[in-house]
Amino acid sequence: MTNTIKTALSERIEEVERRIAAACERSGRSREDVNIIAVTKYVSLETAEAAYQLGLQHLGENRWQDAKDKWEAISGKDSGKGSGQAIWHFIGSLQTNKVKDVIGKFTYIHSIDRLSLAQAIDKRASQLGITVPCFVQVNVSGEDSKHGIEPEQLPVLLTELKELSSLRIIGLMTMAPYETEAEETRPVFRALRELRDEMNKRELLSEPMKELSMGMSGDFAVAIEEGATWIRLGTILVGKEG
Ligand SMILES: *Cc1c(COP(=O)(O)O)cnc(C)c1O
Repeated sequence: MTNTIKTALSERIEEVERRIAAACERSGRSREDVNIIAVTKYVSLETAEAAYQLGLQHLGENRWQDAKDKWEAISGKDSGKGSGQAIWHFIGSLQTNKVKDVIGKFTYIHSIDRLSLAQAIDKRASQLGITVPCFVQVNVSGEDSKHGIEPEQLPVLLTELKELSSLRIIGLMTMAPYETEAEETRPVFRALRELRDEMNKRELLSEPMKELSMGMSGDFAVAIEEGATWIRLGTILVGKEG
C-alpha cells in the first residue's frame, strides 16, 4: 500500500517540480527562492507520512482538529532524507481560543488577520520563550468569502504588530479567487507583491518583509511568476482522498 502511494506521489512531485522550474525560468527567478508547502488536509496520515518521507519537509494544515493526528505522528521524526524534521505551517483561519493548541507546534502562521489574534499568539509565544514567524493574510481580491485584512487597513495593523516582540512578520499571504483560467489570478498576486514592496518602502516594521505566501494547485505557476516565495499545494501535489 505505502509503496503504491509513494510511486504515485513521486510522479506528482516530479511533475510539479517541472512546472515550478518552468515558471522560474520564464520569470528569471531561482528555484531556491520558491518553497513548497505540502498541504495535507485532504489526505490520510499514511499519505502525509509518505510525502514527508519523500522529502517534502514543509507541511501545511488549516484546522488543528484535522491536523492533530498527523502532527503527532510526523513531528519529531526524521525523514531519513537528510532534510531534518518536519516543519509545520498553519494556513487556515485561526480562532483565538485555538492559539494554545497551535503555537509551539506549528512553526509558521500564515493567517494573521487581526490584532487580537496576533496578541494572543504573541502572549503564548512569549510564555514558551519562542518567536513565531508570521504572514499577514490580505484579502486582495475583495471577495466576501475570503478571509484576510483589507489592503487599506494593512499599514495600521503592521504598525501595531511591530510592538509585539514574540511575533516576526516575515511576509504577506493571500488566496486568489477560484478561476477557470489561472492567468486571471495574476492581478491578485501582483497586487500582493506591490503591497509588500510599498509597506517595506514605508518602513512600518523593523525589518522588511521578504516573503509572499501565494499560489495553490490551480494557480501556483502564475504566483511564482509574480514573486511567490511559498506556494501551498494540496490536490496537485499530495492528492485529494475521500
Ligand atoms: C487547502 C488550501 C490550500 C491547498 O489547496 P489546493 O488547491 O488543493 O492546492 C492552500 N492554501 C490554503 C489556505 C488552503 O486552505
